[in-house]
Amino acid sequence: MTAFLEVENLEQRFDVSGGPLDRLRFENGVPTMARRIVHAVNGVSFSIQRGEVLGLVGESGCGKSTVAKTIARIYQPTGGAIRIEGEDVAQYDYRKMLPVRRKVQMIFQDPFASLNPRQRVRDIVMEPMIQHAEPSDKTIEKRAMELLARVGLRPEHADRYPHQFSGGQRQRIGIARALSVGPQLVIADEPVSALDVSIQAQILNLMMDLRDEFGLSYLFITHDLSVVRHISDRIGVMYLGFMVETAPRDKLFEEPLHPYTRALLSAAPAIDPDPDAEEEIELTGEVPNAFDLPSGCCFRTRCPFAFERCSRERPVLKEAASGHQVACHLLEEDT
Ligand code: SF4
Repeated sequence: MTAFLEVENLEQRFDVSGGPLDRLRFENGVPTMARRIVHAVNGVSFSIQRGEVLGLVGESGCGKSTVAKTIARIYQPTGGAIRIEGEDVAQYDYRKMLPVRRKVQMIFQDPFASLNPRQRVRDIVMEPMIQHAEPSDKTIEKRAMELLARVGLRPEHADRYPHQFSGGQRQRIGIARALSVGPQLVIADEPVSALDVSIQAQILNLMMDLRDEFGLSYLFITHDLSVVRHISDRIGVMYLGFMVETAPRDKLFEEPLHPYTRALLSAAPAIDPDPDAEEEIELTGEVPNAFDLPSGCCFRTRCPFAFERCSRERPVLKEAASGHQVACHLLEEDT
């Protein structure tokens, strides 16, 4: 069965040359501005089945939000394929993307910044439907009101403005707006990280109910391991723009294989600490600069298990067990 979304070798580079701090260098006596390229996403591949929730985790700056925005085509990818129901949309222009945008919608971390402060909530939810609907469609307003009720807002809320709501209510408005055009995949970029813990649980539960009701798939971006554990079927771990491990949720938490994943999990506070749990793997040093990626393994400058091959050869994601993929040379050394 074809996955709903297949991402293959996705690459996103940003050319930030020409800034006031860039240095001039001389080539053959000619002054030349040094090119500065941010390697934000580096050959990332994964797929999402219909109805599946894929969580994407990693430290801040690891490229997970860039992956989300590139798949949503807020950014144009600089390489790779983004297949939606088997159709590669990576290089589609605005016009060709329009019907695709109905299928893939996004929820943002800061609902206040993503909602137009001058629009009433009713209009915010109706706007995407108006963009995509036939002009003769008279059901738009009714559908907007139904969606607002479905996400837990009252009819009188429809005529208020975003600043009159709490953070959790604003995220409910963002969810209603995303669902208004009937998407099949929702990309949620840190949707609860700006909310209080009790509100986080309400929004996550709402998202899971909506998944069951509308048969949605989610790409769920978060840095919070407890959130990703609660919501995901499968999890991908990113580091410095690379995907270093993907696995079914329980497998990843019970048997993490990549040293970076092990370090992330061992550092997370546990409510009920397991006495047999692995000792914490302490990460030292800084995350390398995305302008200047290390040779070989992206994690080698911080990995406590690095050995000679790691600086020479970039490991690729390989199947370690059914559905469990890891990019680490240790895997082959152990077998
Ligand atoms: Fe560590 Fe080497 Fe594995 Fe990279 S490939 S994670 S440096 S052991």
